[in-house]
Amino acid sequence: SEHDRATGIEFHRYGSHLFHTSNRRVWDFIRRFSSFNHYRHRVFSRFRGRTYTVPINLMTINQFFGRDLSPTEAQEFIRQQAMAGNIASPLNLEDKAISLIGRPLYEAFFKGYTQKQWETEPRSLPADIIGRLPVRFSRNDFYFSDLYEGLPIDGYAAIFRRMLDHPLIGIATSCDFFDLRRDIGPRCPVVYTGPVDRYFEFKCGALGWRTLDFEIERLAVDDFQGAAVVNYPEPDVRYTRIHEFKHLHPERRHAGGTLIMREYSRFAGREDEPYYPIGRAEDKLRYEQYRALADREPNVIFGGRLGTYRYLDMHQAIGAALHCFDTKVASRLSNGFVGRPAAE
Ligand code: UDP
Repeated sequence: SEHDRATGIEFHRYGSHLFHTSNRRVWDFIRRFSSFNHYRHRVFSRFRGRTYTVPINLMTINQFFGRDLSPTEAQEFIRQQAMAGNIASPLNLEDKAISLIGRPLYEAFFKGYTQKQWETEPRSLPADIIGRLPVRFSRNDFYFSDLYEGLPIDGYAAIFRRMLDHPLIGIATSCDFFDLRRDIGPRCPVVYTGPVDRYFEFKCGALGWRTLDFEIERLAVDDFQGAAVVNYPEPDVRYTRIHEFKHLHPERRHAGGTLIMREYSRFAGREDEPYYPIGRAEDKLRYEQYRALADREPNVIFGGRLGTYRYLDMHQAIGAALHCFDTKVASRLSNGFVGRPAAE
C-alpha cells in the first residue's frame, strides 16, 4: 500500500487486498503488527446497465429475474435452473458454475468475467476457482464468510515495516535473487517465494501465470462508485473491475476527490510479475515435476503463491508460512528461537 501524493488517499498497488480469515492463529499473528478496522467487503457487478450485489444472493436473484422470491422459493428456483443445465459431475469451472446457479446467471456474472480474467476456456479451468465464491439464498451480501475481517489501520506497508524492523534482519531490494544467490552459498538455508519455474530455469517448461495491469485515475468527485470494488463481467468492457480505495477506510475522512484504479488481466510473460497461477491440467502436471525437483533441492524451502503454484489468499499464505516455520525452519535454528505467541 502507499499514499497517493495528489489526493492523500492510500491505495493498494496490486489491487484491493481484503484481509479475512477464520484461522485464529493467523489473526493473532498479523495483529502483532497492526490493528484492523471494521471494514467488511461488499462487491457489486454491473451488467447491461444495472448494478447487482455479488456473490450471488437473494437480492441478486430477485433483481436479475425481476422476482420477489423468498429464500426457500429462490432455492427451489435456482435448483431448477441448475438442473436445466444437465451437468452430472462438474469437473471444470463452467460446469461447476452451471451446476450451482444455472446457465443464465453463469452467463451474466461469470462467463465474461472469467474469460477476461483468465483468457482461458472456462471448461479448461479448475472448478475450485469458482468454489472461492459462495451462493447464498439470504440477503447477506458480504463477499467473505470468515470470522475475522478488516483492513490494517495504517496500511499493509506499515505491517511489513514493523515486521522487518529487527537488528538481525537486513533487506536488499531492486536486485535479482539469482545474482545474490552466488554470495549466499549452498550451506545457508533459503526460503524462496519467487516463481518455482523460474528457480529451475524453466527446465520442465513454463507454468501458466496471469499478470495484471492497473490504470489509476484521480477524479474531482467525492465518490465515484459508492463501493471499494465494482466488477464488470461484460466481455466488451476491457477491464475486469474498478477499485475505489477510499471506501476501504470509512474511518478516514477524505473530502474533495477520489482515486480509482481499473484492473486489466493478461498472460504473464517471463519478464512480467506473475499474480495468479492458472492451473490448467498441463500446468498441474508440470508443477508436479517442479515439486519433485523442489523436494530434492538441498537447504531451500519453497513458499507462497509463486513458490508453491497455489492460488493462496493472504491469510492462507500466512497460515502456510507459520506451518512451514514449525515443521521446516524452527529445527534449523540453533539459538534465538522464540516460540509462537500464546493465543489471546
Ligand atoms: N468471478 C466471476 N465474476 C465475478 C467475480 C468472480 O466470474 O464477478 C470468478 C472469476 O473466475 C474469478 C474467480 O471467480 O477469477 C475468483 O474471484 P475472486 O473475487 O475470488 O478473485 P480475486 O479477488 O482473487 O482476483
